[in-house]
Amino acid sequence: MDEPVLQLGKGDEAGTRRRFVLAVSCALALGIGAGVLLAAVFPSGGRGNALVTMAMPGARSMAMPRISTGRAGNAAPLVVIDAGHGGFDPGATGPSGASEKDVVLPIALALRERLLELGAVRVAMTREGDRFLPLEERVTLAESLNPDLFVSIHADSAPVEEARGANVYVLSPRASDAEAMALARDFNAAGGDADAGDAALGDVEAVLAELARRETSLVSARIADWLESRVRSAMPVHGKFRRGANLVVLRSARMPSILFEAGYISNAEDAERIGSEAGRKAIVNAMAGAITAGLLADAR
Ligand SMILES: [Zn+2]
Repeated sequence: MDEPVLQLGKGDEAGTRRRFVLAVSCALALGIGAGVLLAAVFPSGGRGNALVTMAMPGARSMAMPRISTGRAGNAAPLVVIDAGHGGFDPGATGPSGASEKDVVLPIALALRERLLELGAVRVAMTREGDRFLPLEERVTLAESLNPDLFVSIHADSAPVEEARGANVYVLSPRASDAEAMALARDFNAAGGDADAGDAALGDVEAVLAELARRETSLVSARIADWLESRVRSAMPVHGKFRRGANLVVLRSARMPSILFEAGYISNAEDAERIGSEAGRKAIVNAMAGAITAGLLADAR
């Protein structure tokens, strides 16, 4: 009688070991299988990096800008207005000490009001107060809303005090002039990763982004044209008015983008104009008229 009990005990131990080995093997196989599956689903290194970054604790979450619809209705084109600089980044400083960030915000807010008054487009803002936003974040925030136009508003500054007047920038791989090149260098440096662009994309994605960018560039150019006629009759214009530069905030392939320089804050007359109620009104009327006309022409 003793022997079979002993055998049973041995058999039990052996059975437990086998079950344990089986369980470990299954877990390993499942783990390897999941790894192979993940590698198949996410083959590119760039994507993997992005996922890891987003999962990092402490990563800043972006607050989505609110969309003001006014009388325009939910299907109306959407314009994202981006007031340059903000927070600890004052931008350029005028002869009387005025900061670019403080001059462009009231223009941006008044532009939203005027666009909503005209009632043809919806509006969102990248910033509504005095806060800092990195350049890439402005673009990412705007892209997340899938807008029909992204308008960044700035005030220029030049070493020569005589430089004055408004101008508009559209994306160009090569700067249109020496001043535009200097602007792109300073501007992009403030954003951190100046050369990011399509570098993080795969070959096919980069080609698709380039094709999409050609489409959006046509719309950007058309809005710049509408803007030129309105601005020329309302305020002094600098040089040829339209300039090209490879600015971070103009690089999106997903939305037409322009950057409007309301005037030179380094010029006393311009600083006075863009900081005044009347000057702001002239700027806002010209911009709102051009944006509305340009986007409605596009929709037809
Ligand atoms: Zn600026």
